[in-house]
This record gives sequence, C-alpha cells and structure tokens, in this order.
Amino acid sequence: MGVLCPYGGTMMSAKKFIDKGLLDNRIFEGLAQTSEKNYMFMCDRNTNITRWSKSAVEYFGLPGEYIKDAEMIWGDLIHPEDRKVYYKALDELAEGKTDNKSIDHRIKNKNGEYVVVTCKVLMMGGSAGEPELFIGSLENHGIADRFDAATNLHNVYEFLQYVRQLRSAGSTAVELLIGICNFSEINDMYGYSFGDKVLGQVAAQLKKILGERTEIYRMDGVKFACCLTDVAISYIYELYRKIEYGMKYDVFVDGTRIPLNVAAGAILLSGDYDEYSVQGSARYALEKSKNEHHGQLYVFEDNMKNTTRRRLELMSALRKSMLNDYDGFFMCYQPLISSENEQVLGAEALLRWESRDFGMVMPGEFIPMLENDPSFFELGNWILRRSLNESKVLVDRNPDFILHVNIAYTQLSHPLFRESVKGILEETDFPVSNLCLELTESCRQLERSYLLAEINYLKSLGIKIAIDDFGTGYSSLGLLSDLPVETLKFDRCFTKDIMTNTANQAIIKAISACAQDLHVSICLEGIETKDMVEFARQFFISCYQGYYYSKPIIMGQFLDMYLKH
Ligand code: C2E
Ligand code: MG
Ligand code: MG
Repeated sequence: MGVLCPYGGTMMSAKKFIDKGLLDNRIFEGLAQTSEKNYMFMCDRNTNITRWSKSAVEYFGLPGEYIKDAEMIWGDLIHPEDRKVYYKALDELAEGKTDNKSIDHRIKNKNGEYVVVTCKVLMMGGSAGEPELFIGSLENHGIADRFDAATNLHNVYEFLQYVRQLRSAGSTAVELLIGICNFSEINDMYGYSFGDKVLGQVAAQLKKILGERTEIYRMDGVKFACCLTDVAISYIYELYRKIEYGMKYDVFVDGTRIPLNVAAGAILLSGDYDEYSVQGSARYALEKSKNEHHGQLYVFEDNMKNTTRRRLELMSALRKSMLNDYDGFFMCYQPLISSENEQVLGAEALLRWESRDFGMVMPGEFIPMLENDPSFFELGNWILRRSLNESKVLVDRNPDFILHVNIAYTQLSHPLFRESVKGILEETDFPVSNLCLELTESCRQLERSYLLAEINYLKSLGIKIAIDDFGTGYSSLGLLSDLPVETLKFDRCFTKDIMTNTANQAIIKAISACAQDLHVSICLEGIETKDMVEFARQFFISCYQGYYYSKPIIMGQFLDMYLKH
C-alpha cells in the first residue's frame, strides 16, 4: 500500500509495507555509493517496485528510495523530445529483442535543469526465463566537464545540444564527422600521452582549416564533428580535401611530422531531424568511408526525404536548363602536364553547371544522375561541340595540343554516336588527331566486342582514345591488352595515397611497366603536391593531371596561364 506521490507514481510511505524482496541488497547499496555522478536503480519486474541509489533520489528529487511504477515518474522528468527514443528502447527490452541498451537522454534534476545522462540498462531473467530484474546505471554528463581534456574542444554532449539548437532555429546544416584511421597504432607505439598530444595537434589543424567561426567537437573515440550552415555539399568535398591534406602533411608533434589518414561521413541536417538518428547516420557514413571508400568522403544518402526531393528538384532544373539552350552549363579545362619537361600537353574538358537555386553543382553529383538518361546523348553533343569550339585557338597555336573530352555509356551506346562525332568534327573544323575521347567507367558496361568495334571506328577517323577512371569499377588488365587505346588514366582514388599505400605503388609500378611495353601512355590524375610528382618519377608515367598544376578553369583563364607558361 502507498500514497500517491506528486509525480503520479506511488511512493512507499512506510517501510513495513514494502516488499523489498530482491531489491534489499547490500551489493546494490555498496555500489550505489561508489560514484557521485553515477546513479543506480534496480526494478523488480514482479512487483514493479524500483529501488534508486540515494544520490539519484537527492539529485533528481525523487519521491523516495523505493518507488512503485517508477517509469511514470521518470518519464515525466525526461525531456519531451527524448521520450520517444527512451520508450522505444524500453519496449525493445521488454519484448526481449535485446537484453541491454544504452540510451542518451536529457532529464530534469530537482532544480528544473535538464542534464544529459547515459542510461545503461540490462534485463536479467528469472529461473523460468522470464525477465525478473531490470537493472540500470546512469552517468550524469551534466556534472561532467563540457570539454575534452586532450583537445580542449567541446565534447559530444555539447555537440548534441548544438544540433538541437540548430533544429529549434529551423537551420539547415551539413554535419561532417571525421575519424582518424588506425589511431590505436600511435597509442600502442608511443603511449597515450603522446597520442593525446597528436589529438591536440589534430584539433589545432582542424581549427586552422575550418576557421575560428566553425566550432569543432571531440566526439567519442578519435572522431571530430562540426556543422556547417549555408554550404553546398560540393563545398564540403572541397573542405574535406583540405582536411585530408592537412592531416597527412601538417600534423607535427615535438618537431616530428605524424602523417594521419582520415575518413569522413557527412549528412545533411534539414527539416525535422533528431540529434540521435543524425549521429547514427553520420557514424554509418563514416564507417562506409573507412571500410569501402578508402577514406573518401561518404555522404549519407539515406536521408531519403531530402535526397529524393533534392534529386527530383535537381533533375527538373537540369532538364529545364537543357531545354533552355543549355543555360547554366559551361566547360572548364584542366591541363595535362608532361612528366618529362612539365610542359602542357593538352587539357581535359570538364562539365560544370551553375544555377540560381542550386549554386555550382559539380559533375560528380549530377552526371551519375543524368548519364543513364536519354537526354545525355544531346548534352554530350553540346559538350563536344562547345569544347572543340573553345579549344580550337589552342590547337592553332600548338599543333601538338591534345584536347580530352569525356564520353559516357549513353553516348557510346547510342546508334547515332558515330555520325554525331563525325558531324561535330566537321562542323567545328577541329583537327581530328588533336582529339582524345576518354571512355569513362560507365562505358565498360558495354560488351567488349561492341566497345572494341566503336574504338576501332573512332580510331579510323584519327581520334585518340583513353581509358578513364582506371582503378575503379570494372578495371582489369585485360582492358590494356584487348583495347587499342593510347592512354590509360589512373583514377584519383588510386593516386591520392600513392606515397604511403604500398599495394597501390606495386600496382602502378607493374601496370605502368606493362603499358610501356604495349606503347600505352599512363596519366596520373589527382596530383596535388610536388612530393607526389617527385615520388611518381620512379614509374613509367607520361603525364600528370591535378590541382598541383591547376584546377579545372574556364578557357579565358586557361589561355592566360598557357600563354605565360
Ligand atoms: P574524370 O574524367 O576522371 O575527371 C577528373 C576529375 O578529377 C575532375 O573532377 C577533376 O576536377 C578532378 N581532379 C583532377 N585533379 C584533381 C586533384 O588533384 N584533386 C582532386 N581532388 N580532384 C582532382 P570533376 O570535374 O568534378 O569531374 C568528375 C567526373 O565527372 C569526371 O571524372 C568525369 O567522369 C565526369 N565528367 C566531368 N565532365 C564530364 C563531361 O563533360 N562528360 C562526361 N561524360 N563526364 C564528365
Ligand atoms: Mg576524364
Ligand atoms: Mg579520370
């Protein structure tokens, strides 16, 4: 028997009425006193009476040490936005889907302030297998420091708080979650205090790259997070490139450079998001980046509502542009540099699209969406015509200048492809032998015999052929021996860690030697530093392409650069 307590649960008013049963336990009593910021509770499922540690009773202002139907009391104290997550976890435990759970939630203390707690709960079965005891511990992060000691950055709880603030303000943002790969090796080799110094330097580098206005948070393990508002995903790719570089080359401890590999996941926060599922998704994206994408940024796509909506809107805007005389589309050119004398050998034409609503959208985002669409054939013709017209001036100046234009599967497999290429060459009066068509990865879906016939036809016109994106998707050595191509381009994902990845080094070494025997020239994409150039000298590489020499630029800028060269 009990009296109704103000929270709606039932407080045991007199000791003699309490069926303490399993709860009257000296071990519980002892453990409950071991820490001030950890609280304990234990619930007898048969009587539904919960015993709480005295510190919890005191801190949360609970009605007593023993409470009947405590879920109701606790439920009232949980922040309304966190109740769903909390009850879902309890249901899973009750249904036997799992026998333990860790739930982060906010809870009101007796002063009416919300504190963040991690509640670890465990269901223990009775002799007949039914749940008998429900045991939990609570870690109070409200009392814990808000800062991480190694990096002096705000910690994960502050981050969750920040995400909540963003949502309340209706802000759209991109969360970037960065993880340091194989950090345990540093701890194992040099010890934890050195490891902490490295993390301190990582934090300093991240601050430098992201700027003082972007708050960086130390998350669990060796992960760092930040949220960027009012930026496009394309900007995040660019930013991450700088982070990858900074981590690899600019982290120094006691005068020694510590090269670090990173992986990262990004997720768009927009609409009605909750901080916990956002975290789960960001972690998933980070794992994908680490395990399946060699540390390349992985953007979480399962935020289906947003992604699908954006995709639909983007597709419709792209189509409108195409119908409106390709308004918003333009070409950029990236130089191809001779490994022998660092002179410009030619350029690759790369498509860009900019619109008022979407800003600059990079081809990495829209080409995979468009390249299987029949409209891509017409766009491909526009690309070829525009690139040939714009580059003619370079060919007039330098008869050896080679213009590379990318070709997608939808173009190559189109029945009118041969005619259109021939027609555009005639129409623009572009010298055939100065054109190289790069067959992108999607073209390799084509039957080998079809691919061979198309290549042979294009070659009969005098066009040069390159295999693009080598090292991704269906790349095999057979391509080299079966297809009569002039150039093989190693994809950036292969080159980016060329200085440290010994397996990739061995492959480049073997393939470049083999290509030399077959008179196929090798181009390395993604050359970003002088060190990479120096390093690549040991292989049979004919040409380099990468930000170290120049990013893709519009023809006006290209001409300026070329004339100064
Ligand atoms: P791709 O043909 O392999 O082009 C090289 C990509 O690597 C370009 O990206 C270029 O900007 C980027 N890149 C070059 N050097 C570096 C570097 O040092 N660091 C980094 N981080 N990136 C570097 P972009 O322009 O975003 O194009 C991406 C892909 O989109 C192209 O890969 C190509 O497959 C496709 N694409 C671009 N333009 C066209 C086009 O006109 N037609 C077709 N069919 N596909 C295109
Ligand atoms: Mg290409
Ligand atoms: Mg390429």
